[in-house]
Amino acid sequence: MFRYNDTSGVFAYILSLFITVYTDTVTVYVVLEHGAEDEGMGRKIVCWVFHFFCLLTFIAHTRASFTNPGYVTKKNLNIDFKEHREKEEEMRRQERDKKKKRKKKEKEKEEKPFELQLTEWTVCTKCESYRPPRAHHCKHCNRCVRRMDHHCHWINNCVGIHNYKFFFLFVCYSEVLVIGAGLSLIWDWRRHKEVPDDTLDRVLTFGLFIIDALFTFFVNGMLISQILAVLCNRTFVEVKRYGRPVGKPKESKMSLITAVCGRGPMWLWCLPFTKARIPDPIPPSDIALNQFIV
Ligand SMILES: [Zn+2]
Ligand SMILES: [Zn+2]
Repeated sequence: MFRYNDTSGVFAYILSLFITVYTDTVTVYVVLEHGAEDEGMGRKIVCWVFHFFCLLTFIAHTRASFTNPGYVTKKNLNIDFKEHREKEEEMRRQERDKKKKRKKKEKEKEEKPFELQLTEWTVCTKCESYRPPRAHHCKHCNRCVRRMDHHCHWINNCVGIHNYKFFFLFVCYSEVLVIGAGLSLIWDWRRHKEVPDDTLDRVLTFGLFIIDALFTFFVNGMLISQILAVLCNRTFVEVKRYGRPVGKPKESKMSLITAVCGRGPMWLWCLPFTKARIPDPIPPSDIALNQFIV
């Protein structure tokens, strides 16, 4: 069922589903329901909006989990991987030597390899594939993934070119839920003195408070880093390796957002139903395998 079978990943996936359902149920049926029988239409609308965002979170989470992230197709190529492994080992050794000697000023030169990555096809000696620009090897999936961002245990899948939009929306919707649950808790807390509640409700509300407090930091950090990643046109893997780019990216903000959300009407961008249609690139006929980025 999952593309990547790992017990801790499946556990994290189920846990994130549980947290979404718990947040929805307790926020709507305990916190907002608490002593508010006579509140009328306004509270009902808030409850339905909350249900709607929970449903969107569930859809985005499911699609991010079960969409092929962009695994590089393995083809029968006449490539001698033994020879490439030796070359790669030699390059790594040189890289290690370079690092030892590196001076502070050399940081600026790190832009060059990234520029190369945008155009160069490379080979991966770990999964023995010939891969398009910006593909990286995932040690969990043991496959190369196009435009890989990171391997996420919460969705038990890699985040790559084909499911990035679903993952990004999952983070955005989670942010809405975190804020919504937080505001509901504040609202409930202010009413507490007037309307006492029973012990079970108190326990459930306290559980929601703990979850909300923990995920406020986590989801905020994730959302900020993902927005920066989209606007800088650099994935998490690339930022880790090359750092953040210096200066403005060459592409316009709109084209960077379109690359993630896909073409079509803007209202579809914020819904987890369509994805950017990016065809598999065709390898160049003259295979030049000089660069090895694993
Ligand atoms: Zn690989
Ligand atoms: Zn992976």
